[in-house]
Amino acid sequence: MKRIKFIAGNWKLWGTLSQAKDLAKALAPALSKAPYRYLVAPPYTALAAVKEVLQGTKVLLGAQDCSALESGARTGEVSVLMLKELGVDAIILGHSERRQFHGETDQLVNEKIKLALKHGFEVIYCNGETLAEREAGQAAAVVVRQTKEALKDISEADLSKVTIAYEPVWAIGTGKTATPRDANEIHAVIRKTIADIYSKQAADAMIIQYGGSVKPDNVRELMAMPDIDGALVGGASLKSETFLPICLFDQ
Ligand code: PEP
Repeated sequence: MKRIKFIAGNWKLWGTLSQAKDLAKALAPALSKAPYRYLVAPPYTALAAVKEVLQGTKVLLGAQDCSALESGARTGEVSVLMLKELGVDAIILGHSERRQFHGETDQLVNEKIKLALKHGFEVIYCNGETLAEREAGQAAAVVVRQTKEALKDISEADLSKVTIAYEPVWAIGTGKTATPRDANEIHAVIRKTIADIYSKQAADAMIIQYGGSVKPDNVRELMAMPDIDGALVGGASLKSETFLPICLFDQ
C-alpha cells in the first residue's frame, strides 16, 4: 500500500501573532505546489490569523493540544469546540512536553484523542521512550504500551483519522537524531502493534511520522526508510529556510 508522506511543523511556544502570520505566508505558496500532505501548528493565539493565510491552500491547520473537556471550570485550557470554530483540522496530542511539563498520562491522552475524533478532527498522536528507557532496552515495550493505551476504545474507522508520531524523547530539541535504522525499527514495532490491535489493512494504511531533530540534512535518509511516512518537526519548522527544504526533501 502506498502511503502519502505527511510533514508537520509544531511551532510550540514560539512566535507572536505577527511572526506566525509571516511564517505562514512564507510557507503557504511553496507548500501548495508540493507533493505531500503538510500541516503547521502555531500557538493558539495565532490559529485564526494563520487559518486566514492558509485559506485556499492545501496546508492543514493544527492545534498543539486541547482540553479533555468540551467545557467547564478549567482555567487556561482550550476546548475542541473553540478549535472547531477556528477551522482547525488536526490536533497534536500526547506530545512528550505535555507529558513531561504538564503531567499528562497515557489515559488522559486517550481521553483527549477520543474527544478530538468525536468532533471530527484528525489527530497526530505522539509517543516515544526516554533516554533511560532506551538504555534499559525498553524502547519497543514503551511504545507498544503507550500505543495500546492511547488507542483504547477507538474504532478502526476512526483510526483512519489518526497519525502516529514516534518521537524518542531524547531526540527532541537536542540535535540528537535516532539513526534511520533505529527509528525504522520502532516504526515497524508500532505498525505491528496496529496490526495486532486492528488489522493488517489498518497497519498498512497507518501514517507514522518520525520526530526528533529532523533537519534539512537528515530528512532524506529518514524518509527513505520503509516504515517512516513523514515527520513531525519542531525547531526546524520555525523558519521557512529550514522547513521548506524538509517538506520538499525529494524535489
Ligand atoms: C517536536 O517537538 O515534536 C520535535 C520533534 O522537536 P525538534 O524537531 O525540535 O526535535
